[in-house]
Amino acid sequence: SKVPSLTLNNGVAMPQLGFGVWQVPDSEAADAVGTALEAGYRSIDTAAVYENERGTGQAVKASGLPREDLFVTTKLWNTEQGYDSTLRAFDASLERLGLDYVDLYLIHWPAPARDAYVDTYRAFEKILADGRARSIGVSNFLPEHLERLMDATSVVPAVNQIELHPQLPQAESRAFHERHGIATEAWSPLGQGRGLLEVPTVAAVARKHGRTPAQVVLRWHLQLGNVVIPKSVTPSRIRENIEVFDFELDGEDMAAFAALDERRRLGPDPAVFGG
Ligand code: NAD
Repeated sequence: SKVPSLTLNNGVAMPQLGFGVWQVPDSEAADAVGTALEAGYRSIDTAAVYENERGTGQAVKASGLPREDLFVTTKLWNTEQGYDSTLRAFDASLERLGLDYVDLYLIHWPAPARDAYVDTYRAFEKILADGRARSIGVSNFLPEHLERLMDATSVVPAVNQIELHPQLPQAESRAFHERHGIATEAWSPLGQGRGLLEVPTVAAVARKHGRTPAQVVLRWHLQLGNVVIPKSVTPSRIRENIEVFDFELDGEDMAAFAALDERRRLGPDPAVFGG
């Protein structure tokens, strides 16, 4: 494959770039994921709450690719947190995907007011032990949530998937993850196409390398060591977003990107979201 892999803390290889399908309707997911698989993507990021696990699974089947060449991630929604409800929700996700295992299962949000992520994660440990997920992890966990989880359970999460882009580079979380052997996966890596790609610094770095703004932003992530999962339903952009392994940003470019930090969240605050 054209995408290099990172080795997670349990020895499982995860492609450093994958395809995200948030906000892709189920009826379009099979087409979009099919285009991505043809373009060379091998990792797909979905979630129960995206309501497109079926379309995603159909594309996986239709691709004819060997299952072991693919890396499929899905996530447990907040309302299903708790031990028994998690086991049921996982069965339902596998059923919709049409798979007998996933490569990565994530708790979508800590939802701290529910006070259920520790019990939820105990169910994840059972799913892992049963071989129905090759890796387990979390999403949108702050360091304080990870501390509590790691104190109470035995499997260190393989991944924390968090909002991360040049305007929210998440230095504290990345350093915390690195200390604990947790891979950092960046969601909304392109800032959702809401302005980041038009920032003059990004445009200037893109011009310098003869690349697009999206490509240099993805390159910035890869060079920080992040896993990225850009989303698009436009075939030309789907292909453009994976053509990022044949050039490099230099120190000057990386410093220019570092100046874009605004600590600006596009999504909800994990300290309070999720009921
Ligand atoms: P993104 O940062 O990937 O941006 C996607 C948008 O950027 C597209 O809709 C399009 O408008 C634009 N775009 C994409 N490629 C482009 C290109 N080459 N040129 C110009 N514009 C381009 O945003 P996202 O979808 O929010 O995040 C990616 C994935 O992260 C999601 O699909 C989902 O899988 C995951 N995610 C997870 C969470 C979570 O809570 N865990 C939250 C949000 C997203």
